[in-house]
Amino acid sequence: MTYISRRAFGLSLAGASAAALPMAAALSQGGAARTTPAAKSIAPLAQIRVGRFEVTALSDGYADMPFGYFTGRTPTEIEASATNAFAARNGNIRLAFNQFLIRDGSMSILIDAGPNGHVGQSGRMPEGLNALGIKRSDIDAVILTHLHVDHIAGLVAGGRKVFPNAEIYADRRDVTHWTDAAKRAAAPAFLKSSFDTAALVMRLYPKLNRIDGEREISRGISIVDLTGHTPGHIGVRIADGAESLTMVSDMMFHPTLHPGAADIGFVFEQDPAAARAMRERYFPRALEEKTLIAATHMPFPGLGRIVRDGDRNRWLPTEWGFRA
Ligand SMILES: [Zn+2]
Repeated sequence: MTYISRRAFGLSLAGASAAALPMAAALSQGGAARTTPAAKSIAPLAQIRVGRFEVTALSDGYADMPFGYFTGRTPTEIEASATNAFAARNGNIRLAFNQFLIRDGSMSILIDAGPNGHVGQSGRMPEGLNALGIKRSDIDAVILTHLHVDHIAGLVAGGRKVFPNAEIYADRRDVTHWTDAAKRAAAPAFLKSSFDTAALVMRLYPKLNRIDGEREISRGISIVDLTGHTPGHIGVRIADGAESLTMVSDMMFHPTLHPGAADIGFVFEQDPAAARAMRERYFPRALEEKTLIAATHMPFPGLGRIVRDGDRNRWLPTEWGFRA
């Protein structure tokens, strides 16, 4: 819903006589008696269809990341790219938190659970689920692409599990890494919240399924190995007939950086060389196969393709609807 302020309404009538516009005059009189309501912000939803699947992008919010968090270039070079793309925000680049809900009429699977207020301006995904009329108990499964806090914190609220009936899936290598006390002790401060949230998730969801390698989770929904960002960083491929979508999670962060360059990384990458190799392998393949991609941190709804623009790769957002 678009809220048009009375001031904007007034400006649009500048130079026109209200007497010549009876409708405008009536609206203006009605408006005079009312006080301006506070604008209500609504978490956005975007839907696309992939064969029999309805895919809904849900936003949990965003976080602004300093230029210096990106690796492979100097902060000045990152700033120059961001400025050229009109994406520089006071020393930062804004990363989105997109989660994806997949439904086919018989099951509802969520990919990632969002930071839920632990990072940046976030915690909005519940509004999206409410707007869709989805109860937390309706979610059959949650696939975690990795165990960083911005992908898992939404599994927990007030010390309790949010999705009581969901099977939870994560790669075994990530579960092993993020529940290792020695690794937690040796980790830099900015990663401690991921270790702590992973421990809480394991306590509340003790039956969490540990995935070994690429496999099908449900008919048409498969795991893709994208190790690098974390040891068990995975993607999810949704396919039906000739249509498919690959959710690549933290392979790409912002159109200012990716897919134009594969050698720009992010300070949160566990194995920077492997993360770079993953991008170097994947970008040309996705370009050639015209893969429809979903990505957590690309601008909402994080749905698009890699296309060629001159001698560079570029992100092309895809069309989407409010209802699939
Ligand atoms: Zn992330």
